[in-house]
Amino acid sequence: MQHTTTTCPYCGVGCSLSLAVDNDRIVSVSPGPEPSVNKGALCSKGRFGFDFVHHKDRLTTPLIRKDGVLVPASWDEALGLIASKFSEIASLYGADALGGFSSARCSNEENYLFQKLFRAGIGTNNVDHCARL
Ligand code: SF4
Repeated sequence: MQHTTTTCPYCGVGCSLSLAVDNDRIVSVSPGPEPSVNKGALCSKGRFGFDFVHHKDRLTTPLIRKDGVLVPASWDEALGLIASKFSEIASLYGADALGGFSSARCSNEENYLFQKLFRAGIGTNNVDHCARL
């Protein structure tokens, strides 16, 4: 059994986790070592919400809809398609026709970069996130 200290991916609090791993599978999750922001506690998501890691339906590659069917694609292909669609929309309707919706699972630093991309890169203040839903 191997124990790995990491950071919970579910929200921006960033609680420290200790993953017990056996045969490349997570078998239990407990609070990480001190000092940590969570001080030995975890909410229910951080403690019990990791079944998805080994779920058979987990997406492991981007999907692009082609002729009405979602097909696996590379990250380069998916990001290239998004960039070209964004450019097309912005040139046709202006940058404010676009908006970005970030995730509460992102860190503060990731959310900062996300809003920077939309404000400084794309040129719109249409930026929001799901943390208060
Ligand atoms: S989801 Fe829960 S355990 Fe995970 S970082 Fe947020 S508060 Fe901590």
